[in-house]
Amino acid sequence: MNSQVFQTPIEYLKGVGVSRADVLKKELQIFNFEDLLRHFPFKYIDRTRFYKVRDINADMPYVQMLARLTQKEIIGEKHTKRLVAQAHDDTGAIELVWFQGVKWIEKALIPGKVYVLFGKPGFFNGKAQMAHPEMELYSTEVQQRKGNLTLQPAYSSTEKLKQFSLDSKGIQKLVAILLEQQLKDIHENLPLYLINRFKLIDLANAYRNIHFPEDATKLTEAIHRLKFEELFFLQFRLLRNKLLHTQKFKGNIFGTVGELFNQFYHEKLPFPLTNAQKRVLKEIRLDTQRGVQMNRLLQGDVGSGKTVVALMSMLIAIDNGFQACIMAPTEILANQHYQTIKELVGDDFIEVGLLTGSTPQKARKVLHEKLENGQLKILIGTHALIEDKVQYKNLGFVVIDEQHRFGVEQRARLWRKNIIPPHILVMTATPIPRTLAMTLYGDLDISIIDELPAGRKPIQTVHYYDTQRLRMFGFMKQEIAKGRQVYVVYPLIQESEKLDLKNLMDGIEVMSREFPLPDYRLSIVHGKMKAADKQVEMDRFIKGETQIMVATTVIEVGVNVPNASIMIIENSERFGLSQLHQLRGRVGRGAEQSFCILMSSHKLSRDGKIRLDTMVKTNNGFEIAETDLQLRGPGNIEGTQQSGVLDLKVANIATDQELLISVRKCVEGIFEKDPQLTLPENQILHQTLQVKGQGLSWNKIS
Ligand code: ADP
Ligand code: MG
Repeated sequence: MNSQVFQTPIEYLKGVGVSRADVLKKELQIFNFEDLLRHFPFKYIDRTRFYKVRDINADMPYVQMLARLTQKEIIGEKHTKRLVAQAHDDTGAIELVWFQGVKWIEKALIPGKVYVLFGKPGFFNGKAQMAHPEMELYSTEVQQRKGNLTLQPAYSSTEKLKQFSLDSKGIQKLVAILLEQQLKDIHENLPLYLINRFKLIDLANAYRNIHFPEDATKLTEAIHRLKFEELFFLQFRLLRNKLLHTQKFKGNIFGTVGELFNQFYHEKLPFPLTNAQKRVLKEIRLDTQRGVQMNRLLQGDVGSGKTVVALMSMLIAIDNGFQACIMAPTEILANQHYQTIKELVGDDFIEVGLLTGSTPQKARKVLHEKLENGQLKILIGTHALIEDKVQYKNLGFVVIDEQHRFGVEQRARLWRKNIIPPHILVMTATPIPRTLAMTLYGDLDISIIDELPAGRKPIQTVHYYDTQRLRMFGFMKQEIAKGRQVYVVYPLIQESEKLDLKNLMDGIEVMSREFPLPDYRLSIVHGKMKAADKQVEMDRFIKGETQIMVATTVIEVGVNVPNASIMIIENSERFGLSQLHQLRGRVGRGAEQSFCILMSSHKLSRDGKIRLDTMVKTNNGFEIAETDLQLRGPGNIEGTQQSGVLDLKVANIATDQELLISVRKCVEGIFEKDPQLTLPENQILHQTLQVKGQGLSWNKIS
């Protein structure tokens, strides 16, 4: 908000007072005028007219319609039981669904009669739908009723608030008082040229209409304006930080591509690089010559070869007299990186170290010394490697492998190790959608490996129901007879550890019966085992002594076993999409055709079915990430919760993608043309930013 008035504590609003202010603070986090102004209605009730099926869309508020009921039917059993009815008017048909009170509602509905339907319109599979509509028989009485002729806002409230007469209506009254008193103090915060170019309504109008819409069109315009503004200042802050960052932080200049890089490239690299890998290396090469700190995000699908790109970038750093490190989120992954890199560089090339929480004190001391005297060139580890005790001689390049995202704060801690901060390359484990990357990593440059190494056969994926288990066994036997190995994975969900273990034990029993000694051998790995025992079991599988690896999650099997070409995921409906994709990525690493079998019960939720169908349909991680975002919304994507970046009130990264992309372009354009914001028409942005430091949600972003 652009006027100090809005920072006034809420108790000073007429009609509030001390005790009401208290509950408003506790229950709704409304501390001042601005918070109340930004406590938007969660729905609107439109009793102004009857809508036609043809005219409704999913963005509409609660509306009323007139339609003739033609059919009603209870379908599904127990958990999936629902009442589905069909209705139509002269423009089309609409489906009505109830999940609760099914029997009772079913009895009351009379096919053939015309009803007033009232509810929130939606679409499912392209068909108009309304869930839990209120139903009222159409009658002359209804016809003559003179209703409230505006869109009514409905505000979220709580039992506690209601004790203070602050139900939806009570809050509405306060907002009305606030608007009447302070509307004149809401000043425009966007430059006029943007208002014109994007055909936005002004800010005061937007606030008035989001609370008390004059009509549906005005409401849409108000929401659009506030979404635009929210995304605009989000991107504005991100890109401004990026700009300030390049001005503030010098970077080491990697002037040459030297001996180590060339020797590795010509003598050690076991395969030709893909074009995408070459392109990304070039991008990194350019970044590290500019004298500005690199901050780059590397995205690529599972198996696209990010590790080798990271390694070759580190070799350039070492060639220029610097050290490098890789920071992984877990010990297992750190271990895995260590093994992979040791294998790629071989002996007697450069010294590589591993530092994790379980590195013994003695070995730790040796590592510290070698780091300080510069003998150790690459250090791989977990958080342990940013502990204050760890001192590098000359850290020049940092790779952050972000299975679970490191925050900005942790990234910054690495910089403090040096006067000139090291270049930073952030790698994501699986792709994230473009719009999400734009926001979560909006202050980074982005590189994408969009090509898999040649000769990879796409993994074939099928979905079997538990009743098709025999077919699965048959398939396993056939592939094992050809010399292949199989992973069988069970979900591990922390809340019910006991149940998970039982699942696994039952599974092991079934597997041992179906695949008996001496023809078959099983490896078993789960979380309750000692680390040493796990290692033994994994080694047996790696060496090919066992053909089947039964495990709770394959993260625990973390190793690359190219001969393992079948991934079976039990209870696959209980896994998230990105986890399924990660798991599937464990196969398809060798020359053989690989397969993934998703086992599930018949009891599938709608989202569960979409997840499995998506896995069957595509191997493309970017596509999968996109579907995941659509299904779960931005707040539930792994790693986004703590970030605060997605604390959006009006806009939604999943559903407002188009708007976000055009806003991003617009902000980029502004900084390109006027990086210091000196043009007169941009002065307003300076002012907005200055006031914005105080209470607004978007100050959390930087
Ligand atoms: P991710 O991007 O999932 O981290 P990795 O870096 O682990 O992928 O690479 C997956 C596998 O592909 C590794 O075994 C790696 O050696 C191999 N690989 C990487 N690049 C190429 C390439 N250009 N040609 C052939 N194989 C490659
Ligand atoms: Mg990897």
